[in-house]
Amino acid sequence: SWIAATDAGAAIHDRSPVTAIAPAPGGGATLTVNGHAVKARHVVLATDAYTDRLWPAVAQSYVNVSSAQIATDPLPRALQEQLLPLRAGISETRKITYYCRIDPEGRFVIGGRGHSSEQLDPSTSEQLRRAAVARFPELADATWRHGWACRVGMTMDDLPRVHRLAPGVWTAYGYCGRGVAMGTALGRVLTDAIRGVPEGDLDFPVTPIERMPFYPARQFGATLAINWYRLRDALGVPA
Ligand SMILES: Cc1cc2nc3c(=O)[nH]c(=O)nc-3n(C[C@H](O)[C@H](O)[C@H](O)COP(=O)(O)OP(=O)(O)OC[C@H]3O[C@@H](n4cnc5c(N)ncnc54)[C@H](O)[C@@H]3O)c2cc1C
Repeated sequence: SWIAATDAGAAIHDRSPVTAIAPAPGGGATLTVNGHAVKARHVVLATDAYTDRLWPAVAQSYVNVSSAQIATDPLPRALQEQLLPLRAGISETRKITYYCRIDPEGRFVIGGRGHSSEQLDPSTSEQLRRAAVARFPELADATWRHGWACRVGMTMDDLPRVHRLAPGVWTAYGYCGRGVAMGTALGRVLTDAIRGVPEGDLDFPVTPIERMPFYPARQFGATLAINWYRLRDALGVPA
């Protein structure tokens, strides 16, 4: 998406966090970026689980959870074929799923829920390693070289949201850990919105923001819910 945007003429400024968005009376907004004021006719807030104080009402309409993955060193070809003969990525049908694949260089990659939303902590890493070995004992001696974790935004009903925050200011978020395809699809919806397609004709409903009930207790509630679903999964209760 980075390459597609620059090929289309977009300028990308990294290390330039927006610290405030002030909607303008005539539409669009003035953004504060690295202490400078930047005027924009159209603004798309695409910060998902990192929205925080940038638009508090949005940040209060989802809960942050951690998604984490670890990867082995590239594995011998014979072992790769033994583990996933069709090289298809797989995902479990539980509520708190593990999913895995073999990447183009032959690394085994497994992912699942993490404990900390900011970075990969050792206990998450170990939990993922154990999950991999429980499912594929051949990985008992594998070297786990890489690992990473980030926040993902979860909504109450597992569905993403599109809001018009102010005239010319749009957001899409809440992909519940499935934003690669959905974020791309909603990017097209936001493009149509900016081009002037009426809200009612967009391919996704534009809804008002709904603050999560009991918002201050949300992180505690999320941890409780994850553990509850883990217990149900362990007991074999269908997701
Ligand atoms: C380990 C892991 C595995 C995953 N696996 C899958 C998968 O297999 N399939 C799938 O569909 N999804 C997967 N996801 C989820 C997917 O990555 C997210 O749903 C998706 O990235 C959300 O896209 P986004 O662009 O809305 O937000 P993000 O990708 O979170 O991007 C938010 C952006 O906002 C920027 N930002 C934040 N604050 C500011 C600010 N103040 N000013 C300017 N910029 C700011 C950040 O730098 C970042 O670039 C996974 C996530 C993780 C962490």
